[in-house]
Amino acid sequence: MKIGSHVSMSGGLINAAKEAHSYNANTFMIYTGAPQNTKRSPIEKLKIEEGKKFMEEHNISDIVVHAPYIINLASYKEDTYDLAINFLKQEIDRTTAIGSDYIVLHPGSFTDKTLEYGIERISNGLNQVLTDDTKPFICLETMAGKGSEIGRNFEELKAIIDKVYKKEKIGICLDTCHLHDSGYDIINDFDGVMNNFDKIIGIDKIKVVHINGSLNKCGAKKDRHANIGATEDNPKGKDFIGFDAIYNIVHSKYLKDKIFILETPWLDTKTNLYKQEIAMLRG
Ligand code: FE
Ligand code: FE
Ligand code: ZN
Repeated sequence: MKIGSHVSMSGGLINAAKEAHSYNANTFMIYTGAPQNTKRSPIEKLKIEEGKKFMEEHNISDIVVHAPYIINLASYKEDTYDLAINFLKQEIDRTTAIGSDYIVLHPGSFTDKTLEYGIERISNGLNQVLTDDTKPFICLETMAGKGSEIGRNFEELKAIIDKVYKKEKIGICLDTCHLHDSGYDIINDFDGVMNNFDKIIGIDKIKVVHINGSLNKCGAKKDRHANIGATEDNPKGKDFIGFDAIYNIVHSKYLKDKIFILETPWLDTKTNLYKQEIAMLRG
């Protein structure tokens, strides 16, 4: 089973790989810089060769890059839109240099416009970014549905993909917290959710699965992650999805060979539960 967590890329790919190894992970996810801005170091400074060597020696592979969340391909503002497109083009180059095949992207938010406008804008943007030479998959993430977020259901993601020319370069990243918050019953009927996904988009499109608990009830549209199976005494709060449901998901026949990434909260600035969560979920 391929399982890891979000790790820090400050200090380059080598430090990211070492951090992942300390959690007994065999994969990981990084932001190529701060998640909340688009400032990035040049590729030469990312310590890629050292990182790749360490990964090979420690059986770590299939790593994932997450695009920063301020990127909004649905924006009607020309500067925001152009920034998103230019950033993504460069992120594809960085991701390729790092040796990762997957960029996770939040589709975007339509803000003052309409859902249809947003979907059109996102697919047009992806059409400007994707070429025959694009190596990594752009994995659109399933969203919780807060504000005007696009991708809160499978139909919206399908509508984007339908308008993209190079559909073979598009993948999907499922996020358990987001699915639950957007109203899918992954606790009692995960198979039903997967069948529905398969009919609309196709299971083979799933490349990455974000494994998170949720601090809220199904359908709450909040997007606040919880530690896996956390009870009330956890300082970050109780997980409403629960350990059994998440365990069932990572061992689901529908998700065999997919890449599982934890984005669960840190308890304080020094403590996370990634190592324990990975061990519990491996079973
Ligand atoms: Fe995300
Ligand atoms: Fe996520
Ligand atoms: Zn989230």
